[in-house]
Amino acid sequence: MSKTYETIFENNKKWIAEKLGEDADFFNKLAEGQKPEYLYIGCSDSRATAEELMGLKPGEVFVHRNIANVVNTLDMNSTAVIEYAVRHLKVKHIIVCGHYGCGGVKAAMTPDDLGLLNPWLRLIRDVYRIHQKELDAIEDEQQRYNRLVELNVQEQCINIIKMASVQERYIVDDYPIVHGWVFDMKTGELLDLNIDFEEVLKDIQKVYDLTNSEWVMSRTNNKNVH
Ligand SMILES: [Zn+2]
Repeated sequence: MSKTYETIFENNKKWIAEKLGEDADFFNKLAEGQKPEYLYIGCSDSRATAEELMGLKPGEVFVHRNIANVVNTLDMNSTAVIEYAVRHLKVKHIIVCGHYGCGGVKAAMTPDDLGLLNPWLRLIRDVYRIHQKELDAIEDEQQRYNRLVELNVQEQCINIIKMASVQERYIVDDYPIVHGWVFDMKTGELLDLNIDFEEVLKDIQKVYDLTNSEWVMSRTNNKNVH
């Protein structure tokens, strides 16, 4: 269903009326500032939205999206978003959400020269190389593709944990907790990959530790459950 450009502004007027109908102070509160508990890092794919699929309202989630939900040390965009979310907004949860049917992941499995996209997609090819044994053992191409979507989420979660701001804050607060999710657009479901970070980090921590102190990043925060 195609919509005209003007429709967007009509929609906006309807949205304002709807929000004011629910709460006359809605925009006053919104303008006061933000204190989101979540940072969501997802794919730019137009079908994999952030707030809508999580049922969250404006002000509840800080969002970063790019092709295939990649977090890379040399990408100032994603690292600045994480740095701000962790050090200043002090989010409690960081979510990396991939999605099955991801065009970026598919392109990284295809022998094609995509110009400027090559170095970006190479980051996903690197994920394939790290997990090549497991992926090559999957005969069904669709299943292999789905698994690369999941492993890409896992590796991007690890890239977040490599950051000093995340490690330092975790030692002090036991937060942020990093989560890996996949959105299945065929069903609409959000799937928690339940990545066992304690296990994942056991071997890599000594390589990536920037704090020179003991820290264990768990999937759930047991110490602060009330
Ligand atoms: Zn995608």
